[in-house]
Amino acid sequence: MDRQTIENVVKTCNVDTSEGPVNPRVQQVLVRLVTDLFQAIEDLDLSQSEVWKGIETMIDIAKADELALMGSAVGLEHFLDLRADEADAKAGLTGGTPRTIEGPLYVAGAPESVGFARMDDGSEEGQIATLIIEGTVTDTDGDIIPGAKVEMWHANSHGNYTAQTTMPVGYGLNPEGPLQGVLNQISRHGQRPAHVHYFISAPGHRKLTTQFNIEGDKYLWDDFAFGTREGLVATAVDVTDEAEIARRGLKGPFKHIQFNVVLQKDKAGAPSTEVERRRASA
Ligand code: FE
Repeated sequence: MDRQTIENVVKTCNVDTSEGPVNPRVQQVLVRLVTDLFQAIEDLDLSQSEVWKGIETMIDIAKADELALMGSAVGLEHFLDLRADEADAKAGLTGGTPRTIEGPLYVAGAPESVGFARMDDGSEEGQIATLIIEGTVTDTDGDIIPGAKVEMWHANSHGNYTAQTTMPVGYGLNPEGPLQGVLNQISRHGQRPAHVHYFISAPGHRKLTTQFNIEGDKYLWDDFAFGTREGLVATAVDVTDEAEIARRGLKGPFKHIQFNVVLQKDKAGAPSTEVERRRASA
């Protein structure tokens, strides 16, 4: 089937059947996506069984709540970041800490603190090193931004997101899940390096979605979600100095990460960095 014939089929099914008001944007997007899908079926000569296998795989991935992770895995989230970078560059907005993927695991409604927050619940104390994260929020001129809001979330030492504790480890897809089942067929792992996510916002500045990934992790530059970027690698330093441990009020050696964030000033006509998406809340 040639392109024109495909376009005609799509038009007959999705455009010529209007029975009332049409949302032109929805129609435009749907027609384009369906046309490209039909074209791909044509080009790849997919059998009916292959088409249904694909649909069933998507159903399985959605049922396992892995659809958003699939967006990370195939590079969709990273691609959207690259597009946002390009739009910023066109608008003359450069400098500051790079953005990177939000991922699907932010939970709104965490308690707020000023200046210092303990994020762990103490359940792993003594079993695993405490991690102290420090950092500044400045603008691109190097001036401290007072009252910046820093939202952070990360997996605990078991890779779980529900209780945020101590030194994070890398996150991995469920090895038995349907998304990993797809990745297995293209010889891909589903592992992320240890990382900590951030939203940073302040009046008069552009909200930043970013994360640091921790130096030394074997997946640092082999991240299934493509979240690691230059400028977003942090080093966890082991601190064993007794005086420093005492000064921090800790009982034993700890790890320390310094991650400073630089926000761009807001500018008229700047592309919005607020992303609307469904998010969990505590
Ligand atoms: Fe994450």
